[in-house]
Amino acid sequence: MLMGIRFQALPTPEQRLTLSQWIGCARVIWNAKCDEHRYYTTFARKYLPVGTYAPVDQKYSQFKDKELTPWLSQCPSQILRNSAVNWYKTYNNFIKGKCGKPRRKKKHDNISIHLTRELFEFQLYPDGVTRLFIGTKSNNIGFLVLKTHRKFKEPKSIRVKKKNGRYWVSFCYDDPIDESELKTKQEHLDVLQTRTTQELENMVEAIDRGTCCPAQTTDASYDFSPEQKKSLQREERKRKRLQKAMHRGEKGSNRRQKKKWRIARSYEKQANIREDFNHKTSKKLVKNASVLIFEDLKTKQMTKRPKAKVDEQTGRFLPNGAKRKTGLNKAILSVGWHQLEKFTEYKAHRASKVVFKVSAYQSSQECADCGHTHPDNRKRRELFVCLGCGHRENADVNAAKVLKKRAINLIQDSGTELSQRGVLRRDTGRGANEKTQTAEAVGAHGCESSKKKVAHATGSSLL
Ligand SMILES: [Zn+2]
Repeated sequence: MLMGIRFQALPTPEQRLTLSQWIGCARVIWNAKCDEHRYYTTFARKYLPVGTYAPVDQKYSQFKDKELTPWLSQCPSQILRNSAVNWYKTYNNFIKGKCGKPRRKKKHDNISIHLTRELFEFQLYPDGVTRLFIGTKSNNIGFLVLKTHRKFKEPKSIRVKKKNGRYWVSFCYDDPIDESELKTKQEHLDVLQTRTTQELENMVEAIDRGTCCPAQTTDASYDFSPEQKKSLQREERKRKRLQKAMHRGEKGSNRRQKKKWRIARSYEKQANIREDFNHKTSKKLVKNASVLIFEDLKTKQMTKRPKAKVDEQTGRFLPNGAKRKTGLNKAILSVGWHQLEKFTEYKAHRASKVVFKVSAYQSSQECADCGHTHPDNRKRRELFVCLGCGHRENADVNAAKVLKKRAINLIQDSGTELSQRGVLRRDTGRGANEKTQTAEAVGAHGCESSKKKVAHATGSSLL
């Protein structure tokens, strides 16, 4: 199975300079390919018969010129070739409809260079430090120090990336887990359907995600540590200050650029805290249960801005709660729900466990004991009191229990089918099935009816 990994590199000032020059050269080739292709297509459209297309190739030697671009010959030619090949591959993928058209890159985009086998070599020193030799025999930057926080196998190609003033080396390597032995979700479901209710009760664990508590299972809650919360808030405050200062500064000045980098670093720091939390939480989740249930949330649709309300007579804008919704959106996005789901999913797959999703519809209004569903069941954010049977519990725990119950019922039902996105749902005849499929397909593009449904689910799980 392929594993991706990223290490921070610690280049010396001279290495930094050379690396940025090489990154710049790779960018020049990429942009030249983009420009050349645009010129050819325009020319073909204007002056050549219909049906003549511009040639798409991976040649780059026409851009190397002793007078116009002497600096290109100072960069190892393999890097230039890789850049041209990558452009060619991207363009072919674009024709197949797999990605967008290759676009010009700007100087301050986070650009990387692709290094193939002949351009790097890993060497482990007796002091335990891994150093990475980059370049060819005649043209190299010497050994690059890496922060190798994990064991790995030697890859076939690597990428060196510059991001917010720091350098990273990332690559994929084959790890010993054999993918053909791991079961698919459907196979897991088939096995689970033969189990008894008691066995399923022990195996299944549901996770309710919220804004005040990022992840809550039926018996444990996972939250950021007080230090993490503190630094998240600190970054927020710092950024506000920096943003104000940046806007006061003169446009195009060095100081302004420095502030910009600091703001970017601040965002990065917050993202790192979230990533760290999600990695640790997903590891614990996978360790404690063999079947994990998430609610099916569509974060992108949930965090849309509300529509503007316009007074028809005066044509003025009316209050639509946009500010409040912005705050809620921020809270939703700052927890990183999707990342937690993705991390848990791949970790479970590697441990031959499985992650399913179930509908989140009214999951926080339903009573886990008697099934009575009413919005008034949840008077406050954290407390759930059933109006039907008087059951009292923490609202998130109750929601997790409801999800677990739903999942077990669905697994035991022989008519349950698994959607492409890993959602368990009841197959109620052909007509109903077709209907849900279209609803889902349209929902991806923002269908009105599915939007309403999602809005409902949002309100129920957060309020
Ligand atoms: Zn009840």
